[in-house]
Amino acid sequence: MKKLWDHFNEIKRLIYIRNLLSWDQQVNMPKGSVKGRADQLVIIQNLIHKRIKSDKTGDLIRSVEKLNNLNVTDLAMIREAKRHYMQATRIPETLLSEITKQSTLGYNIWEKARKKSDFSIFQPYLEKMISLQIEYAEKLETGPTLYSTLIDLYEPGVTYDWILKIFMNLKPKLIKFIKTLEKSSNKPDQSVLKRYYDPEKQWQLSLDIIKKLNFDFTIGRQDKSTHPFTVSLSSKDVRITTRIRENFLIDCLFSTIHECGHALYYMGFNEEIQGTLLADSCSYGIGESQSRLWENIIGRSKEFWIYWYTIFQKYFPENLKDYPLEEFYRAINIVQPSFIRVDADEVTYGLHIILRFELEKMMIEDGLQVSELASLWNEKMEELLGIIPPNDAMGLLQDAHWSSGGFGYFPSYALGNLYGAQIYQKALKDNPNLTKNYEKGEFSNLLNYLNENLYQYGKIYRANDLIKRVTGENLNPDYFMKYIEAKFKPIYRL
Ligand code: ZN
Repeated sequence: MKKLWDHFNEIKRLIYIRNLLSWDQQVNMPKGSVKGRADQLVIIQNLIHKRIKSDKTGDLIRSVEKLNNLNVTDLAMIREAKRHYMQATRIPETLLSEITKQSTLGYNIWEKARKKSDFSIFQPYLEKMISLQIEYAEKLETGPTLYSTLIDLYEPGVTYDWILKIFMNLKPKLIKFIKTLEKSSNKPDQSVLKRYYDPEKQWQLSLDIIKKLNFDFTIGRQDKSTHPFTVSLSSKDVRITTRIRENFLIDCLFSTIHECGHALYYMGFNEEIQGTLLADSCSYGIGESQSRLWENIIGRSKEFWIYWYTIFQKYFPENLKDYPLEEFYRAINIVQPSFIRVDADEVTYGLHIILRFELEKMMIEDGLQVSELASLWNEKMEELLGIIPPNDAMGLLQDAHWSSGGFGYFPSYALGNLYGAQIYQKALKDNPNLTKNYEKGEFSNLLNYLNENLYQYGKIYRANDLIKRVTGENLNPDYFMKYIEAKFKPIYRL
């Protein structure tokens, strides 16, 4: 067992080195240096891949499987090692390199097509990518269906049917709730957030906030990048990034809190699993549940702003001095059907995901022709959100995922909202005074709770087991519905 741990700890070190190369590429590297870095990334990626699919890995797994009386951490380690080994050995090199090539090509063409807002440019590349994804799923064969196999890459153990049941429960409730909010005659006004906010001050505030949220600067740092992200560079080194828009206050603010949420999770793994394969979020959905919990449930709460608003007023008196806290709180919580998923609010977000989930299933399993995709996209947008995108760029060309083969990834985002709400309800039930602390800028009680019940375990438990351990029941979307109803009805004066 020790040999298996050591073997994969070395692989994990290579992964950290790869992460460092790509973190540097996105944060520091001069633009002209892309080629040299790409070559380095290929070499290290090949090293990682070779070690995972080596005979040594296979032999070690076979020998530890004969052992009895293994503890839960060892068993999880074997499970994850097998998962990596299976992915590396079941997919032929030729298919893997074809997907890599098609991803790079597809991504570049997708960028061009989006710029021109012309789906027809991207269509043949998407068709090719879909057939490669189908082939990949056929070879990997970990799920009961092809699409389930792809979903399993991001949500281990989860199937299409399981998600379908949850989403079908949620869909009509969300549509109905959005219609209710639309009837309000006293809606929030977002214009105050779109004034000029000095970028330097925004940056300073973002650092002050994560400090208060207990982001540990002795083992982490924040930088700037085009797309905010979080990455680990060693067992004790977590990097986050943010971006600043001078005419939109909440971009930097909530990107920072979101990534801080991911980082707090990474910083909370217990000593035993640090630097191992198990030092990772339990699943993409559980990972996203924590970034969204900190960003939305905490960062967009009234109590959070009772503490922070006076500080913001001092930083930006020209915009906020005479602007009431209550109206600011409403402004950061506006709900509005919109075309672009990444800009969507807490309430409409899930519907953007359900749309992609339904289309992906049809593309992977039901032979949906890519030529029919644009009209189906618009139909579904109208059904779910009541709006039709004016062009391809604001419609089916908005996400990069499909261009680089990320089929099955989208559902995790919406599951994150659901897991987050359920976990937070339990935290509140166990600590009824939690929110009182936020008003004093005190967030360690919540973090301690999450560390103890969730973060320390990393990948030891599967999402299903984890949510049952933490909350005593399976994932139940009612918690999310109750949360948004209780929060948004007062904001919309209903
Ligand atoms: Zn995230």
